Amino acid sequence: MSVVYFVIPCYNEQEVLPETVKELSAKFNSMLAKNLLDESSRILFVDDGSRDQTWNLIEKYHKENPYIEGVKLAHNRGHQFALLAGLETAADRCDCAISLDADLQDDIEVLDEFIEKYQDGCDVVYGVRKERKTDTFFKKTTAEGYYKIMNRLGVELVFNHADYRLMSRRALHALSEYKEVNLFLRGVVPLIGFRSDYVYYGRKERFAGESKYPLRKMISFAIDGITSFSVKPMKIISSLGILISVLSVFGLLYALISYFSGNAVSGWTATVGSIWLLGGLQMLSIGVVGGYVGKIYTESKGRPRYLIEQFLESQPESEENQP
Ligand code: UDP
Ligand code: MG
Repeated sequence: MSVVYFVIPCYNEQEVLPETVKELSAKFNSMLAKNLLDESSRILFVDDGSRDQTWNLIEKYHKENPYIEGVKLAHNRGHQFALLAGLETAADRCDCAISLDADLQDDIEVLDEFIEKYQDGCDVVYGVRKERKTDTFFKKTTAEGYYKIMNRLGVELVFNHADYRLMSRRALHALSEYKEVNLFLRGVVPLIGFRSDYVYYGRKERFAGESKYPLRKMISFAIDGITSFSVKPMKIISSLGILISVLSVFGLLYALISYFSGNAVSGWTATVGSIWLLGGLQMLSIGVVGGYVGKIYTESKGRPRYLIEQFLESQPESEENQP
């Protein structure tokens, strides 16, 4: 039997928590009954600096149910860091940890399969979506296109896998060795290696509350993913710069020939056109380079990636039974 930690980051999730706790506890108990889980397994909620009743609810559930624990982050640090905080808290207490979202959009019925694969010797088990039926056309095309672009850029991503995954204790310890501040977990985990496998599942709609990933956050997360793992955009810019320089030599030759043969036209269109084009390209290039410089800046500060304000820990089983 394995000690499993279910790690759930929560940001303003008061609407979904009651139902999530109900469903997940039922699943947890059935897994205990099937001997898939050790008694020291826990459901660990990470409150990512919520501004609603989320933490109060977690405290309440912790009092009612010894299997439920909570970690409160001092600030809202975003999904990836909240998850990391939970995983690192779990790392020394568990045999393996499974990360899932508070809205239970990812089908919890497949949790048994995760554990079975872990018991077969896998260190990482990726949850992979079977289809994207519940997504809008826009989300489906942009998400799938994104995985393809990332692969083209040389980033190893598991297609249609988000953050629903199991990691063994040693994979969790390995993850802690990746100290980056611009964290994109689904890109880092495949870098760790170890034996891995997949579990396929269906994804439901969020049953209450609204998505904490509006388009704006999604875009910045996507760009972060690219610039954290690939320097190809910089290389593309260099190639573009070389190409444009070559082309401009021909342009210059053409202009000189026209001038000496007396066919010089006013050339206003070409001049203005090239100013805009080159100006635009330069700005784009500077922006991309600036993006990387910005990353070096944030990485070089080496600030803590999260700070835990409070940890509601249940007693280990053995101590609890003592008089
Ligand atoms: N989340 C978080 N911090 C944030 C934003 C989101 O911990 O700043 C959590 C959120 O509570 C949820 C998970 O990340 O458990 C995924 O968020 P959501 O379901 O809103 O994303 P979506 O499923 O719409 O992509
Ligand atoms: Mg969701």
